Amino acid sequence: MKKILIASNNESKIKEIREILKNYELISLEDIQCKIEVEENQETFEKNAKKKAIEIAKITNMPCIADDSGLCIEAFNGWPGIYTARFLGKNATQEEKNKAILEKMKDLDDKSRKAKFVCTVAFYENGKFTIGKGELKGKIAKEPRGENGFGYDPIFELESGKTYAELTNKEKNEISHRKKACY
Ligand code: IMP
Repeated sequence: MKKILIASNNESKIKEIREILKNYELISLEDIQCKIEVEENQETFEKNAKKKAIEIAKITNMPCIADDSGLCIEAFNGWPGIYTARFLGKNATQEEKNKAILEKMKDLDDKSRKAKFVCTVAFYENGKFTIGKGELKGKIAKEPRGENGFGYDPIFELESGKTYAELTNKEKNEISHRKKACY
């Protein structure tokens, strides 16, 4: 089976990609003891995903898959979007980021809380890219709920009324923005 390197240092993301792409032999940067951090400084999810995949593929000489994702809030014209990881600076904790979003939205009613989670995956092999895009619509919850998942999962509420963090890993991986981008 062909080995594909996941160009990410985010353990939670790597775990989800492994579960979603079960039929591939996926290895992580940690598996090959490669300590590279690619700077995400592009203006679109696609460009960031491509940058991560190609930079790591060139260093490791392996086919690479990279994922760039983010939360886009309708009332703020898609913000934080590509800034989802870094809108509070590099050192902010996830709890602080979730709180900042909830605080910014505290006066918005249910109808104004629409948001989507988006994901672009870039696969790079032999000089060629394959791109996949997925999104899932929902809204920003009034408060964090749920213990599963990672990142913004506790504040991203689905049409069912549950947050991503209230789903099991299996349930999330069946419907997620990441799953849609991979297939
Ligand atoms: P990046 O794609 O690594 O730049 O991640 C963007 C930001 O979105 C990071 O803060 C991640 O923690 C967060 N994020 C990415 N995917 C998910 C997800 O599936 N659920 C919750 N947060 C996510």
